[in-house]
Amino acid sequence: MIDYPGILAEIYDAVQPLLAQGKVADYIPELAHISPDKFGMAVQTVGGELYCIGDAAEKFSVQSVSKAFTLTMAMRLEGDAIWRRVGREPSGTAFNSLVQLEYENGIPRNPFINAGALVVMDMILSHYPDAKQAVLDFVRLLSGSEGIGFDTAVAQSEKSTGYRNAALAYFLKSFGNLQNHPEEVLDAYFHHCSLAMSCVEVAQAGMFLANDGRLPWDGQVILSRSQAKYVKALMQTCGTYDAVGDFAYRVGLPGKSGVGGGILAIMPDVFSVCVWSPGLNAQGNSLAGTKALELLTTLTAISIF
Ligand code: GLN
Repeated sequence: MIDYPGILAEIYDAVQPLLAQGKVADYIPELAHISPDKFGMAVQTVGGELYCIGDAAEKFSVQSVSKAFTLTMAMRLEGDAIWRRVGREPSGTAFNSLVQLEYENGIPRNPFINAGALVVMDMILSHYPDAKQAVLDFVRLLSGSEGIGFDTAVAQSEKSTGYRNAALAYFLKSFGNLQNHPEEVLDAYFHHCSLAMSCVEVAQAGMFLANDGRLPWDGQVILSRSQAKYVKALMQTCGTYDAVGDFAYRVGLPGKSGVGGGILAIMPDVFSVCVWSPGLNAQGNSLAGTKALELLTTLTAISIF
C-alpha cells in the first residue's frame, strides 16, 4: 500500500528551495506576473483515489500540456493519416525552433513542438466549424469538469506577441502543410494553449491515458488501446522537448509539459499525475515540477522502467 499523502508531503517540503530557482515564462506577458511560489500536485489513481497537495485546486495556464489532448482529438479524427503531415521523432531542438522545419520540408518532427501542434490544430479546424469550442468540449469531457474555460487574456496576450509562432504558421503554409489560413490556425492554437485548469482537472483529463484509452468513470472509449499507447509513447519521446532524455532518466514516466509550469505524467494502469510550479528550467519545463515527479517515482518505487 503506497502512502501517497505522506509522499506528497515529503515532496512538497523537498521542492520549496527549488521554487525560486526556475524562471517564470515572460515571453507571454500575461504569464509574467504569476507568483513563482505556487506549487500544486494532484495524483488521481485508476482505483479512484485522489491525492492533492499545495495549490492543486488553483487554475493555471496549461499551455502545451493541452497538446496531449489536441493530438488525441486529431488521432480520433484522422487516425494514422496524421503521420503524413507530422513526424514522430524527438526534435532535439527548442519547442519553438524554426530551423529544422526548413531542412525537413515543412514536416514538423513531432506533434508536440509548436510547429507540429499547429499542424494538429489545422487538422482539427478542418473537421469542425467551431474548432475552439470542440477543443473545449473535448477537454471538459476528458476531465469530467464543466468548469474549464479559455483564459482569453492569456490567448490575446500571446496573439499580440507571438511572432515566432506566426512565423512557424506562415512557413508551414508556404510548404502546403496547413489547409486553413495561418491566422485561423494561430487563433485556435493560442486558445487551446490558454486553457485554464487546475492540477486536479489536468490529472483527471489524463486518466484515459492511464486507463488504456477509456474514461475510468463510465468506460467511454476515447482512444483504442493501441492509440492510447501511441500518445503515451509520443509523450515519452517528445513531451518535454530537448529535455526529454533527462526527464526519462530522472522521472521515468511519459510526460507533457507546458510553459505555464504544468506537467502531466502517466503511470499506465496506476495513476495520472499533474504538477504545477511556474518556474521553468532552460528547456521550458517546470524546474520544481520535474523534481517533484522524480521524487514521486523514487519514493513510490514505480515507473514505467
Ligand atoms: N503557447 C506557448 C507557445 O506557443 C506554448 C509553449 C509551451 O508550453 N511549451 O510558445
